[in-house]
Amino acid sequence: MKHCKPCGDNKKLCAFGKDKYTKDGLYHICRNCRGKEVSIRYKLNPERHKRRANEWNKANPGAGARRYKENPDKFKAKQRKRVDTLRRATPQRVDRSDHRRVINFLKGLAEKCTRIIKKQYCVDHIIPLDHKDVSGLNVPWDMQVISLVENSIKAKKFDGTYQNRFGEDRDGYT
Ligand SMILES: [Zn+2]
Repeated sequence: MKHCKPCGDNKKLCAFGKDKYTKDGLYHICRNCRGKEVSIRYKLNPERHKRRANEWNKANPGAGARRYKENPDKFKAKQRKRVDTLRRATPQRVDRSDHRRVINFLKGLAEKCTRIIKKQYCVDHIIPLDHKDVSGLNVPWDMQVISLVENSIKAKKFDGTYQNRFGEDRDGYT
């Protein structure tokens, strides 16, 4: 167990990210608090964030491809898990062709948003499909178009409501 100051909780060690500069090799605050800290910092200075991300990408060309090469099985397993989750979350009795049509419409909308707003947009499941407490359905009425940044902050969080409005107070910077 390790204490996290911001949330005031004692948490399991796996709740902390790695940090090679500390004595115990773990970051001083938990992943949850770290996530909040990062999103607040982003909000304060998105340009700096983007610049640093760009610099990192330039300094580490092909990092994603390299990581894939180092451990292709891990990536393939992840992909399989995603396909499996989607399959399990899709009800047997929905009309698949109708389903497809609405999903394609939403995908097109996301592409349009990306083009017009010049920010990456994607289709998101409002209620996450593989949350520990709930499982959303892979159906059109559990889908929305949001920006990629908003989606990565929302990730698999669930606020207990059908709207699952994670990140709403973050409007204006996504
Ligand atoms: Zn914490």
